[in-house]
Amino acid sequence: MSQRLFVLGSTGSIGDNVLDVVARNPQTAVIHGLTAHRNIGKLYRQCLKFRPALAIVSEPHHAIELQANLQAAGLNTEVQCGAQALCAAACAADCDTVVAAIVGAAGLPPTLSAARAGKKILLANKEALVMSGTLFMEAAANSGATILPLDSEHNAIFQCLHGAQRASGDVQRLILTASGGPFRNRPLQTLDQVTPDEACAHPNWSMGRKISVDSATMMNKGLELIEARWLFDIPAERIETLIHPQSIVHSMVVYRDQSVLAQLGSPDMRIPIAHALAYPQRIDSGAEPLDLVKVATLTFEAPDLARFPCLALALEVIREGGAMSTVLNAANEVAVEAFLTHRIRFTDIARVVDEVLQKIPGAAVTSFDEVMDIDQHSRRIGSAVVQRVCRMPHSSPSLYAASSAAAVSLLQGGR
Ligand code: NDP
Repeated sequence: MSQRLFVLGSTGSIGDNVLDVVARNPQTAVIHGLTAHRNIGKLYRQCLKFRPALAIVSEPHHAIELQANLQAAGLNTEVQCGAQALCAAACAADCDTVVAAIVGAAGLPPTLSAARAGKKILLANKEALVMSGTLFMEAAANSGATILPLDSEHNAIFQCLHGAQRASGDVQRLILTASGGPFRNRPLQTLDQVTPDEACAHPNWSMGRKISVDSATMMNKGLELIEARWLFDIPAERIETLIHPQSIVHSMVVYRDQSVLAQLGSPDMRIPIAHALAYPQRIDSGAEPLDLVKVATLTFEAPDLARFPCLALALEVIREGGAMSTVLNAANEVAVEAFLTHRIRFTDIARVVDEVLQKIPGAAVTSFDEVMDIDQHSRRIGSAVVQRVCRMPHSSPSLYAASSAAAVSLLQGGR
């Protein structure tokens, strides 16, 4: 089963979990390459432990420093730098499997490079599919690449589909579950006081800061809906979202005979990672066994779109299609970064995304160059909107003031 693994974003939360599962199952994979953006201290420690042939960082001065430190430690790991190096390594013949765990749009080029080269891709970087779903899936189909989802919801659906023929009509609906994040019950009028640390304190999952904020706004579920639409080639109208605060049922598939298959487990990313790493076999993940007696209660509720306007925006974007999901992703990245650096309020994230969506006309995209152009354009507009929002008085109304009925109407076809 051993495969040569290239872990894009190894210093992140997903990267940590991947390396943990590999360390528990050394027969499963040999670590060929590891990458970081700027955290060279952590990458150095990972290199000492896994002795990869290759390590890649973003900045040249970091590459020089890391190379010197690794040589001093007696390792002959080659250190490279920059986005081109990531793309070249992701399609090179000396790796079999690429873990796509860089956060955000920066993850698209190397993940696409792996897809074009026909690699096995363990996909965490949902942004790749959100930005360029049709093109990305076409590239994978043309090269024969295998995509195995690491996102717990998509991995759950993959397991529940179990090879079912979606085209035959047997699969009626997919149900993505969502925890609802840390603010599911917080009074709406206090949401503008939320701090980055509060937004990143997820009740069930330990994740990177960007995805944690996305979970708090439920933009993450919107991005996941788009991801599921492309990954499983199913129309968005047949994908539902349910809030399930315990995060035990990771998602479900409803079949035409009304059988509903669900995948359950403790909320631990090592479970989907172990599944994808060993697929179609099974290996130990290191996760706590699920104790349903201790959990005792599993509850489900419909999402309140007035509380989660980012989810409403994502639903609207799915309906519009084309370039709008690229715009949504870019605007959201700019807004979340501005929130994490204390430049805008939590409730401004939806405002920034909404304004950017309104300023950019929808269009079909036919090439990755166009996708990258739209991404850059959306970021420039997003930054300008952030500048303006920073100067607005705190009493300005936010999307959270929208009535529930107005938000629900987004789902029903009218804005
Ligand atoms: P983290 O922020 O924890 O880690 C991100 C990784 O990407 C780090 O290795 C970081 O390097 C690297 N990175 C960041 N920016 C760049 C850049 N511009 N160029 C190259 N590398 C970069 O994120 P997560 O692990 O939480 O998430 C990774 C992806 O997985 C995201 O797309 C997320 O949506 C998805 N995902 C995450 C889940 C989770 O449980 N965490 C669950 C499901 C999906 P450095 O450390 O040096 O900054």
